[in-house]
Amino acid sequence: MKNILPSPLQYKNNQLCFDGKTLESIAAKKRTPFYLYSKKILRHYYEYFSKSAAKNEIVSPLVCYALKANSNKEVLSTLKTLGSGADVVSVGELKKALSAGIDPQKIVFSGVAKTEEEIRFALRCGKKGIYSFNVESIEELELINQIARKEKRQARVAFRLNPRVAAKTHKHISTGNKTHKFGLLKEDIHEAVAAKHLWTNTTLVGLSIHIGSQLTEMKATVKAIEELSKLALSLETPLEFLDVGGGLGIDYTAEEKLKLASIDQYMATVSQALEKYYYSKTDHCPRVVFEPGRIIVGKMGVLVSRVVRTKTSDNNHFTIIDAGMNDLIRPALYEAYHEVLPSKSSKKMITTDIVGPICETSDCFGTKRKLPKLTAGEIVVIDNAGAYGQTMASNYNEREIAKEYFV
Ligand SMILES: *Cc1c(COP(=O)(O)O)cnc(C)c1O
Repeated sequence: MKNILPSPLQYKNNQLCFDGKTLESIAAKKRTPFYLYSKKILRHYYEYFSKSAAKNEIVSPLVCYALKANSNKEVLSTLKTLGSGADVVSVGELKKALSAGIDPQKIVFSGVAKTEEEIRFALRCGKKGIYSFNVESIEELELINQIARKEKRQARVAFRLNPRVAAKTHKHISTGNKTHKFGLLKEDIHEAVAAKHLWTNTTLVGLSIHIGSQLTEMKATVKAIEELSKLALSLETPLEFLDVGGGLGIDYTAEEKLKLASIDQYMATVSQALEKYYYSKTDHCPRVVFEPGRIIVGKMGVLVSRVVRTKTSDNNHFTIIDAGMNDLIRPALYEAYHEVLPSKSSKKMITTDIVGPICETSDCFGTKRKLPKLTAGEIVVIDNAGAYGQTMASNYNEREIAKEYFV
């Protein structure tokens, strides 16, 4: 294995432990299901990410953590303390970032549907508003300019380029191709730049891309940076930053453990691509903005659940647990794989489907998995649930939203 991503989980004397404490003891007085997070592992990923940027000579890196991956208050205040900025996609996320103390001048606002209310709020925060509106259509730019004029402010904007690349990931989390709703094609950006009436109260300060999530290899990223660079070189305006988005994946599966690009490989790729396609061809030296989500928080969290009962139906064995797709929707939504781990390891395994309580066939955390034969009340842990877990939870079937704890 070349790329071991640190995790809070480990078996000690056949007991599953989280940051050194047994799951049994952590869960003893808690209602399941719940999310469990490790601050130590959270810090590790943020620090590793920013140190790797520095080591790879990225120009004045600004890490804008993507709140949608996990917007827990303590997660945000920890990241703020470490120097993180924020990538937000709604006024709700913007307010959360601000209440964690994140400087508006470290916040970028992405998303195709920013409303008048959201734009006004983002313009009014701090002395100068937010660092950048990452604009996804000409219509949006027009609205930002109009509102900024009324507010007597100057809005800082960046275009999100749709680089027309097909990222190798699940079709529901790929965002950088021309059939996707995200970003602007380069022809449209040129047209917008030339339209003087759109720029009375807006300033073009950057360009951005974000081609998809759970990226495991770097080919599409290099291609997208090439497109971003070409566009940047073709504009007369000197830019303050180039925003390379987020998307770096984590190792959910055994195959990903072997093949996944590491943080260092990702940084080296970004650095070399920017040097080759941009910095070597110009005197301008814009800084680099990153919008990582999953890589920062994915590995720090698990979903802790208890077995309700087991059942067999013909040849099928089911382990029914008290966590459902309303707590963690990724398997149902993206056919995502999550490792399911028993709190006591055993050599004797059976083949079982791990299913939840929700009245949907897709409420299933794994089929044909090897697990010990579990009984009611035993703890099982769904691994790698720190990103896009709690933030996507719902009250479906009138279930409560699972609580979140740190050890
Ligand atoms: C979701 C999103 C991110 C974060 O993606 P990850 O795959 O979690 O790193 C970054 N930027 C934008 C614009 C996004 O929509």
